[in-house]
Amino acid sequence: MKVFRIMSKAEKNEKAGSGRPGTSKAEGREKLSPETFHVTREHGTERAFSHPHNAEKRDGMYGCVCCGTPLFSSETKFDSGTGWPSFYAPSGDEAVGEQDDRSLFRRRTEVHCAKCEAHLGHVFSDGPEPTGARYCINGVALAFDSEDGNSDTNGNEPE
Ligand SMILES: [Zn+2]
Repeated sequence: MKVFRIMSKAEKNEKAGSGRPGTSKAEGREKLSPETFHVTREHGTERAFSHPHNAEKRDGMYGCVCCGTPLFSSETKFDSGTGWPSFYAPSGDEAVGEQDDRSLFRRRTEVHCAKCEAHLGHVFSDGPEPTGARYCINGVALAFDSEDGNSDTNGNEPE
């Protein structure tokens, strides 16, 4: 519960403040595209079907776009039809962290990178076997490393 309280306070500060120089928020903005920054740092959501990771079918590993930590394997990716990259499990027990999210007047479970706390998306309980979980993740929050050696499509290129 302590972690949750700290996060809530940080979120309030983000809403109240306006990107003071010298904060980690300002540092992050230099490296990330506006869309990636909005999703990973401001808990935004990309438009459905907007990101190539959604239809990505190759084998590989999806890592955190901010710190590179491996988060989701293509082995657990499935087509949920939602328009967002979906997985039924993270790559490891400690790859992602989860937190209660009561925004928008409904209860959801927020998912973030366990290492750098970048917001990734949400997890729902209507996924396929064997876990029954559906990790609904923003493509811009993931950097894809294809097993055929072509690592690309981190979503940060200008359109
Ligand atoms: Zn990270």
